[in-house]
Amino acid sequence: YDYDLLVVGSANADLVIGVERRPGAGETVLGSDLAVHPGGKGANQAVAAARLGARTALLARVGDDGNGRLLLDSQRAAGVDTAGVLVGGAPTGVALITVDPSGDNSIVVSPGANGRLTPEDVRAADPLLGRSRVVSAQLEIPLETVVEVVRRLPEGTRFVLNPSPPRELPEEVLAACDPLIVNEHEARVIAGGELAGSPEDWARALLALGPRSVVVTLGAEGALIATAEGTIRVPAVRVEAVDTTGAGDAFTAALAWKLGCGEEPAEAAAYAARVGAVAVTRAGAQVSFPTADEVAALGGDR
Ligand code: ATP
Repeated sequence: YDYDLLVVGSANADLVIGVERRPGAGETVLGSDLAVHPGGKGANQAVAAARLGARTALLARVGDDGNGRLLLDSQRAAGVDTAGVLVGGAPTGVALITVDPSGDNSIVVSPGANGRLTPEDVRAADPLLGRSRVVSAQLEIPLETVVEVVRRLPEGTRFVLNPSPPRELPEEVLAACDPLIVNEHEARVIAGGELAGSPEDWARALLALGPRSVVVTLGAEGALIATAEGTIRVPAVRVEAVDTTGAGDAFTAALAWKLGCGEEPAEAAAYAARVGAVAVTRAGAQVSFPTADEVAALGGDR
């Protein structure tokens, strides 16, 4: 394999303005200077994996515009192979974010080019799929595109899905997941709206839908990993949380990479929890993702 991880997913420019008060209908408020950050779950996961040292490629679509160049630059700076990033067809995806002093935000997402990443694009990327040990996806691109990834997955390639934003999934997608990685909200939607009992019960309910394994992330409570053999709790590393943005993406990328390297699920998830923990100690998404040395240097309870 040439790549430890191929991420198939979204790339967005996050346009952030601080405001005293988020505007209501028909209202205009003045805000801070605009900050533009590279984001989107696909782009975030690719940067997170590459920064840890994984040989990483990204299959995504951006617009032929400044935001697209910003995203390509941030991928390349992290060491991601961007030969699979398609350019044009629509403006780069954008998230318009207003944040008030309490940290509450309002977000409008324009999927733009992410919505134009098609099943045909996946077919054209066949060679890339064949060179990758693990393929990970999220749901900020069309579901039919994710379905095509699953259909074209070469024998022996592992598929990892973080179904965010969540929706109910076709059986063939669920059956390919190893693991399906969800937080509580995503777990509830995937399960069809009902979730009873403990996180272990949720994981078992999701496992019954067909995935080979399920990981439930629980923020500061850590995570749990469920396979046919049983469920294992993975404690969080105790840290001073500054900004949890991107923690899930960092965790997912690290877990996908380590599982692909052949690590046992519990060991891989413990490593991913350390990566997620470093990410929450720093502001921002991509800029908060650690290198392998920074993960190794992390103190705290293990
Ligand atoms: P996101 O906000 O990025 O969508 P998520 O809801 O998908 O995140 P979380 O469960 O918040 O995912 O975080 C993923 C992992 O990161 C957790 O399982 C945990 O290991 C680690 N983590 C998250 N928050 C904290 C925290 N406050 N302290 C320590 N570890 C954390």
